[in-house]
Amino acid sequence: MTSSSSSSTKICFNPYCKETVPERPRRGWRLRNGNYVELCDRCGFVYETGRFCESFHADDDGWRSCASCRKRLHSGCIVSTHAFVLLDAGGIDCMACARTNFIKASE
Ligand SMILES: [Zn+2]
Ligand SMILES: [Zn+2]
Ligand SMILES: [Zn+2]
Repeated sequence: MTSSSSSSTKICFNPYCKETVPERPRRGWRLRNGNYVELCDRCGFVYETGRFCESFHADDDGWRSCASCRKRLHSGCIVSTHAFVLLDAGGIDCMACARTNFIKASE
């Protein structure tokens, strides 16, 4: 007797991608319902290296620059909500700069 698992095949959450998700999916960003997105290997890797928005949302609205290092951040996007912080005086900092500035400020 063979049990087929083809019914549980999932497609990558990335709407620009049609890959099937591997048995052990790559975990992406967190959804508003608290679940994590399941990505294929390729998209998971792009996400983990912080280039997801750069790769797939380059033509979308909502891009802003880090106030400290000018790195481009997709501030209008759920994928990047953990990649930057809003500054008290307006503008945004990327996570790396936010951490550095925080350490400086508390010294
Ligand atoms: Zn994918
Ligand atoms: Zn984005
Ligand atoms: Zn920065």
